[in-house]
Amino acid sequence: MRQQLLAADQVLPGPAGRRIHNGAVLLQDGTIRAVGPRAAVEGIASPTAERRAFPGGTILPSLINCHVHLVLDAGRDPVQAAADATHADLAERAGRLLRSGVTTIRDLGDRDGLAIQFRDQHTQGPRIVASGPPITVPDGHCWFLGGATDGEAELRARVRHNVELGADVIKVMASGGQITPKSPPMWESQLTKRELAVVVDEAAKARLPVAAHAHGSDAIAAAAEAGVATIEHCTWMQEGGGGYDLRDEVAEKIAERGIFACVAWPSDWRAVMNRFGAARAEAVANRFKWMASHGIRMIPGTDAGTANSSFDDYAGAFQLYEHLGFDRERIIEMATTTSAEALGLGGTTGQLTPGLSADLLVTTGDPLSDLANLRQLHLVLVRGLPATAAAR
Ligand SMILES: [Zn+2]
Repeated sequence: MRQQLLAADQVLPGPAGRRIHNGAVLLQDGTIRAVGPRAAVEGIASPTAERRAFPGGTILPSLINCHVHLVLDAGRDPVQAAADATHADLAERAGRLLRSGVTTIRDLGDRDGLAIQFRDQHTQGPRIVASGPPITVPDGHCWFLGGATDGEAELRARVRHNVELGADVIKVMASGGQITPKSPPMWESQLTKRELAVVVDEAAKARLPVAAHAHGSDAIAAAAEAGVATIEHCTWMQEGGGGYDLRDEVAEKIAERGIFACVAWPSDWRAVMNRFGAARAEAVANRFKWMASHGIRMIPGTDAGTANSSFDDYAGAFQLYEHLGFDRERIIEMATTTSAEALGLGGTTGQLTPGLSADLLVTTGDPLSDLANLRQLHLVLVRGLPATAAAR
């Protein structure tokens, strides 16, 4: 039995609203054993427990990035990057994520199940929820990852193929996207409501959730109707792409069915906003507020690996939500407790609660005063192991 006792000025065990001053966390063999006021936790620790104190620091659950692509390199040629990706590339990118405080990732599109193999071979690394090749249409968004299908029979066969590869989630490209040359525009639906329902039905046979990439409002509506678990991007683009088409009745359905929106903006979101210009940036801000006002639960992700979205600095991505008016406690909750629930990992990680995995961060100050403090890390633990060891 190996115990570690970590103490700090405050513990934010999650969800939002819980704050323990002068707190401590007791870990045992990779699992959280106790969380509470320092004196109480010290009282139950074994005399041989390894003890560390972090004056001025904060202990909180480590972060979850709900949308990444380990096979991509954040460069301008994703087709080549995906073709060239090696196990060593994936390890290097996973190491970057770990060092930025991310211990759980959802990989929503690889080539030939590469991220799934990496998950299985790298059990000391970040926790990985992986989809394998995303399901798309011939010449559709991300066809180059190998998941192109044509018609219902092929859709079902492709879901089963990804299940055999070991997928934890089925990713489907309900609309066009940005990164694939000569593919449908972002706002255009690639699959019908019926075809999406077929994907959900086949995935359900393997008890897997479906994550639907959807920029256009038609695709979002179809995905919500089909009963997917998460909608990626959830951009609400109108047909033709000229603006946003915010449909109250669809937003209500998404909230009512408990579908999560993974809004997936990069750490360098300011560059995107600058490119958009003031008017569109304001429309984006209104879109987020409108989703929140309908009770849609949003989870962050960065689409790391796509052009200009790096595997570093997850904290940078959170400043977008602060800029949009979300409070800091809520943002941290989105990236921990809410994300874990959205990924089906609520019983494993995302909170500091006895019995859950020892996945935590120790920051040097108070992230509730300044989210940038999430860049100043004393310690990142995944399953009780320091990230530096886990990244090897
Ligand atoms: Zn993506």
